[in-house]
Amino acid sequence: MADGVMAVTQWLRECAEVFDARADELNKLDRLLGDGDHGTNMARGLAAARELDLTPVAAASDALRHVGMALVSTVGGASGPLFGTFFLRAGANWPRPIQTAGVASAFEAGLAGVMARGNAERGDKTMIDALAPASDALREAALAHISLGEAMDTAAAAAERGRDNTRSMIAKRGRSALLADKSIGVVDPGAVSVAIILRTAANHVG
Ligand code: ADP
Ligand code: MG
Ligand code: MG
Repeated sequence: MADGVMAVTQWLRECAEVFDARADELNKLDRLLGDGDHGTNMARGLAAARELDLTPVAAASDALRHVGMALVSTVGGASGPLFGTFFLRAGANWPRPIQTAGVASAFEAGLAGVMARGNAERGDKTMIDALAPASDALREAALAHISLGEAMDTAAAAAERGRDNTRSMIAKRGRSALLADKSIGVVDPGAVSVAIILRTAANHVG
């Protein structure tokens, strides 16, 4: 199996395990802000993605596009098309050979896709508030000629800070927007999911 495809396969295995273990926690957050299904949705999507047979896939870019399609078709809800779009767009722009600047560009493409699809901005208390800081961190790392392994660690840390920052935000998009300022005090579950995806990716990329 090609190097990058092997990394995607190993990341998928760990990511699916973490979503399985944290599904209840994510459902609880989504019960406070929405309809309580975000953990179940993501665990189902990653379980389907993990079952993909990626052995005949030639490059990481194609593997990530397959992941995107699996998420679109199995996650459902608002988050399925949004996470799916991220992987479809990032995959379509994934560099070969894999290096920091190319991965930063792929993330920017993925982020732009999510923002267009969900019509959301930074600060709306969504997954974007974890994804955008991660994308920024990758671009800064690329400009500083930092290796991909280290860049992914800084991106994961940025996603985790972004996740935590959603606690004090007022929801402007998705079901949680119905709560308006009553959404303050709870971390956005989609932002937690982005942080999980980035932290597990940092363990396998670069
Ligand atoms: P649903 O709200 O349909 O039940 P989920 O519970 O799986 O879907 O996902 C909710 C998450 O989706 C939110 O926590 C938020 O991060 C993300 N989300 C919802 N709407 C948007 C949007 N318009 N733009 C970006 N992210 C969004
Ligand atoms: Mg929900
Ligand atoms: Mg739902």
